[in-house]
Amino acid sequence: MGAPVHSIGIGTLPDNEGTLTALVQDWHEPKEEAVLATAIEAETLTHGNCSKLDFVRISDAKNVLCCKHCMLRITIPSNLKTLGDLKGFFATSP
Ligand SMILES: [Zn+2]
Repeated sequence: MGAPVHSIGIGTLPDNEGTLTALVQDWHEPKEEAVLATAIEAETLTHGNCSKLDFVRISDAKNVLCCKHCMLRITIPSNLKTLGDLKGFFATSP
């Protein structure tokens, strides 16, 4: 039996495309700051309740998060390294 899964909101996507959520499997309630300090590719990100996301390196300038279910593609600058960076990006993007 696995540890319970906690979901932590990362951001709201523009154009009503839903939300990004990080899922953390842990016996303990995860500390949000610790989750936000983890690298994007090491974390399980989901497109709301839709599906898990693939993290794809595209170029030196950008990476893409791609939903495995609806194929939504979210382009993000490659200088975003952690889930905290990602959260900040969606908080400040128009
Ligand atoms: Zn999706």
